[in-house]
Amino acid sequence: MLNWDNPLGDGKTENPATGRRADHRSAGEPIEAPAGRPEGEGKDGPSQPAPEPEAQPAPAATPQPATAPSAAPVTPGEGDATGLGAIEVGAARPTVEDKRMINARADVNQLLPLKYHWAWEKYLAGCNNHWMPTEVAMQADIALWKDPNGLTDDERFMIMRNLGFFATSESLVANNIVLGIYRHLTNPECRQYLLRQAFEEAVHTHTFQYIVDSLGLSEGEVFNMYREVPSITDKAAWALEHTRNLETGQHDTSTTEGAQDFLRDLVAFYVVFEGMWFYTGFAQILSMGRRNKMTGIAEQYQYIMRDESIHLNFGIDVINQIKIENPELWSEAFQKECVAMLVEACELEVAYARDTMPNGILGLNADMCEQYMHFITNRRLQQLGLPEQWPGTENPFPWMSEVVDLNKEKNFFETRVTEYQTGGALSWD
Ligand code: MN
Ligand code: FE
Repeated sequence: MLNWDNPLGDGKTENPATGRRADHRSAGEPIEAPAGRPEGEGKDGPSQPAPEPEAQPAPAATPQPATAPSAAPVTPGEGDATGLGAIEVGAARPTVEDKRMINARADVNQLLPLKYHWAWEKYLAGCNNHWMPTEVAMQADIALWKDPNGLTDDERFMIMRNLGFFATSESLVANNIVLGIYRHLTNPECRQYLLRQAFEEAVHTHTFQYIVDSLGLSEGEVFNMYREVPSITDKAAWALEHTRNLETGQHDTSTTEGAQDFLRDLVAFYVVFEGMWFYTGFAQILSMGRRNKMTGIAEQYQYIMRDESIHLNFGIDVINQIKIENPELWSEAFQKECVAMLVEACELEVAYARDTMPNGILGLNADMCEQYMHFITNRRLQQLGLPEQWPGTENPFPWMSEVVDLNKEKNFFETRVTEYQTGGALSWD
C-alpha cells in the first residue's frame, strides 16, 4: 500500500495501490486554490497523491479554516507546546477545534480526536514503506567498484561526491526535525509523522554507513565532504542560515516574526533540501542504475526517494496548512522571500551538478541537471502557490518516473514481510 506522491509532477498521479486520484486532494485554500472540493470529502482529507501539475496549481495542503475559539480559551502561544508541563487535572476535554498547527491550545499528548487526517495518512504510508539498507545485496556494486575497469574516473568522482552530499544531509535533516521543528509543530498527528520521519532519516544515514562499509570507502572522506567540498558546504550552510533563529532558541511562534522564522525553516528543509537538492543526486545514481551499474545503491536510492517524496509532501502540507490558519504570515513580502529562496537554492544546486560532473557521464551532464532543477523548482513553487520561474520547462529525465515505478518495491516488501512471518519468531531473551 505504497503512497507514492509523485514528486516529479509528471502527471502520473494515480496511486496504483490505492487507485486514489489527485482530486482527493482538497482544494479549499482561500487564495490560490480553485474552489470545489468534492462533497463528502473529509474536511481535512488527505492531500495525497499529488495533483496534475498543470491542472491544479493548488498547494498540497488540506484546508482547515481557522475555527472558533474553544470554550475555555487560552491565549495562543500560552499553551503547553512541549506536553511536559503540569497536568491540568479535570480540564475540559480537547476537541478538534482546539487543535492547531502552531501555538496549539489543545493537549499535545492526546493524538485523538484526529484533525489533520493527511498527516496521519502519511504516518501510515511511511510505516507501510519500511525498509532497511542491509536488505539490499551489494555484491554487484562491490565487484564493479573494485574492478579497475568497472567505472570511469568521472563516474567514480560523481558517485563519491554524491555519497558525500547525502551522508551528512540526512543527519542535518534529522537534527532539524528533532531539535528545530518538533517543538514548534504543536499538533500530535503531525508529531507522530515527525517521529516516523526522524527514524527514516536514521535509516537513510545508516544506508550511507552501509555503502561506505560495503565498498570499503574512506569514511573520513565521505563524511567530511560537507566541510571540505565547497559546492556541498554551500548548500549545507545555506540551509543552516535559514534555521539560525531556531537554533538560537530566540523563536516565539506566537509572534508574526517568530512564526515566519519557523516557516522559513520549513521551506529551507522540506522544500529545498529534501524537495530540490536531493533530486540531482537521485538522478545521478538512478541513471547509473539504468545502465546496470551500482544497482544496489540505485535500489537503496529508490527507497530513499520514495521516503523523501512523502517527507516533501508532508512539509508542503504543513506549510500550506499554517498559511491557512495564519494568513498574515503569508504576506507579499514573505512570498517574495520564498521565491528568492528557491531561486537561490536552484543556483546552488546547479553549481553542485557542475562540480560533481565536470565532464558529464554517459547519458547525464550538468546542463541536463540544470534544466531538471528548473523543472523541479517550478513544481515546488507551484505546490506552495507561488509563481513558476522557468515556465514551460520540460522534464529532461522522464525516466525518473519510470524508475520510481512501484512494482519492484511492492515485490520487495511482500518478499520481506513473508520472510519475517516464516522465519522471524521472536525470542524473548
Ligand atoms: Mn532522508
Ligand atoms: Fe527526508
